[in-house]
Amino acid sequence: MNICPICSAASEFKEFRGRPAEQCPNCSSLERTRAVYLCLMMKGRLPQIGTPRFDRSIHHFAPERSLYNELSAHGKNEQYRCYDFSPEIYKFANGRIKRHDLCDRDANRDLAMADIILHNHVLEHLPTDFRHVLGDLNSRLAPGGIHVFTLPMKGGKYDEDLSPNLAPEERKRRFAQEDHVRIFGRDDALEMIGEALGGNGSVFRLNHYITPAMASVFGVRTSYDIDAGGGVGGSTVFYYEKPADAADDSVSAYQGNAATKPGLAGLLIELIDARIAETGGTDTAKRPSFAVARQTIDLLVDRIESPEFYRNMEEAPD
Ligand SMILES: [Zn+2]
Repeated sequence: MNICPICSAASEFKEFRGRPAEQCPNCSSLERTRAVYLCLMMKGRLPQIGTPRFDRSIHHFAPERSLYNELSAHGKNEQYRCYDFSPEIYKFANGRIKRHDLCDRDANRDLAMADIILHNHVLEHLPTDFRHVLGDLNSRLAPGGIHVFTLPMKGGKYDEDLSPNLAPEERKRRFAQEDHVRIFGRDDALEMIGEALGGNGSVFRLNHYITPAMASVFGVRTSYDIDAGGGVGGSTVFYYEKPADAADDSVSAYQGNAATKPGLAGLLIELIDARIAETGGTDTAKRPSFAVARQTIDLLVDRIESPEFYRNMEEAPD
């Protein structure tokens, strides 16, 4: 059984583009969107998520429907803003997506300050220096804010060609898609992204937060295994956190806030929080063992099967 950490649906994830157990049949989330969401959750950036009270200020580029629904609090979060170069292709967002060209540095600098900035598989499309884009977006982060993103990845090293004359077939061969101008490489992505983020960037490692069994339930097991091996892949979450000033620690500490999310994923996260607390925090050496994770999953399944669980869900604050 899979549980989608984004929409909370329990189901079997479907095969997608040759990847087994990849897509949530309810909200269409993919491994990379779930990995980004888990990063934001585990880092305590989504207080009140799953309720209309969720009000983080967010810039979301090329928004995925699954994340759009939750981060916009189903349209109620006025602080959620989404953008794309071609907003007309998004049917689900009801005209809410603004046109934005990330290659336009003046436009980037005109963006409002935000607590969260996110984009998945966007930088490979931009015919400009991707370092400028990362820098511009970091400059729009409020103190304590976080900028998270994922990138397509191939074996070997970084490759790029911004020439408008490069044939589409050649782009597909080198960069995996006809409209890509670059692709990141597993050999040097960590170093390149680290440098682009001014030495302050980092990689979110799922294995520091959850167990292999939980990763399988959440449908992020491929990414988990890559994280455990210290590598990078197309679902690896890179992030930059803007230092919070001492007076403002409202978003900097792990608060276990995901427990406020109703539904199955909220319950599982709540149990994970409890286990992490019992076993010594997020220190990798002390993270919950596989046996503890199994017990947690068993407990979860017991709870899901109990009538009280469904009653509680119905009574969960809106
Ligand atoms: Zn889902």
